[in-house]
Amino acid sequence: MGFDATAFRRQFPILATEPGGRPLHYLDNAATSQMPRAVLDAVVAHETTRRANVFRGNHSLGDAATDAYDGARQSVAGHIGVSPDEVVFTSGATGALNLAAHSFGSLLESGDEIVLSRLEHHSNLIPWQLLRDRHGVMLREIPVTPEGRLDLTSLDRVVTPRCRLIALTHASNVTGAITDVAAVVAAAQAVGARVLLDGAQRAPHGGPFDVAGLGVDFYAFSGHKMYAPNGIGVLWGRHDVLAEMPPFLAGGHMIDRVRWDRASYAPPPLRFEAGTPPIAQAVGLGAAARWLKTQDWPAIRAHMDGLMTRMLDGLASLPGVRLVGPASIEHRLPVFSLTVDGREAQEVCRALDHGYGVALRSGHHCAQPLMDAFGVAGTVRASLLPYNTAEDVDAFLDGLAGVTSRAA
Ligand code: PLP
Repeated sequence: MGFDATAFRRQFPILATEPGGRPLHYLDNAATSQMPRAVLDAVVAHETTRRANVFRGNHSLGDAATDAYDGARQSVAGHIGVSPDEVVFTSGATGALNLAAHSFGSLLESGDEIVLSRLEHHSNLIPWQLLRDRHGVMLREIPVTPEGRLDLTSLDRVVTPRCRLIALTHASNVTGAITDVAAVVAAAQAVGARVLLDGAQRAPHGGPFDVAGLGVDFYAFSGHKMYAPNGIGVLWGRHDVLAEMPPFLAGGHMIDRVRWDRASYAPPPLRFEAGTPPIAQAVGLGAAARWLKTQDWPAIRAHMDGLMTRMLDGLASLPGVRLVGPASIEHRLPVFSLTVDGREAQEVCRALDHGYGVALRSGHHCAQPLMDAFGVAGTVRASLLPYNTAEDVDAFLDGLAGVTSRAA
């Protein structure tokens, strides 16, 4: 049985709305995904039947809220193949990466090295720059190839015996390139370094996946890019690694015992979840994880391969359009960045929005050092999820053809 894209799309109420009587071609999925009815219903059900604070209330409603929050953690842990006590709920990938940089980073010493890459989102760069400034660690860089992949031939040179952490994106939010994790893990293990992956872009693509089996130590992602609400994300860490890390944020609920002059802390994950957590958001993320499990991923993959091929063939046929990223569908996500000769990225996006109902993103995509490497100020970015169709891709390509013909 093939993939029924129309039935899949129908699960997303917002995609049925037609602003100004036009269909919405939503191609800004790398920024935020839409939410299926299953997730929306779970959030509404929580807020209307179980809304209370967690862990504290001495009443049935509080118990129900706590069960829902714990259940969400279990669903997320099941989705990525890890133990629930290794799943720290954060505000998003940015929250998760800052937690790692502060807390794991505080265990590092001056002169220790952290390896990052030119492909990183600012969220996986600036927290480490701040750590460098506080702590005297050194940052080393894996460069990118002309097609926007990590240049892993540099690993031998960049990863030295002083390396304590390699922190890389699992997939680029600009070029769509997927990282060869096995090569990175091998390089880290050779010098006893930890590996952190920023999975913000990879997490929405695919069903349950085996994060622990990747051989990494940390994995960060955001709910709102993965069919779930805003304000929730995850830092997964190996339990023995988390157990050694001090708290990042402090306050209610992350404690063991507090005295006037000192405090001891709860074990992970609660040690890292100070204050009232984003409860309904976590419930939504748990629902998204369960919903992802029920989808037909082999059929979805074939659908996405078809869309990626259509997109790449279409882009290659447009004069003046330059792809910033791999030109084949191998080891890449359906995230396409491009420039149009003679036109500003922002202008292209506005023209496609107004003229064709295509929602895109333009700019540096929080990856200015990568833009510098490519010598561009910004790109137009179109990014797909399985609810996108051939009509969405064609609307984008038609719009681009219109813009390039006017530019000529
Ligand atoms: N890392 C990558 C690769 C991203 O694409 C993003 C967001 O675009 C982030 C981190 C930050 O995610 P958030 O803004 O949800 O915290």
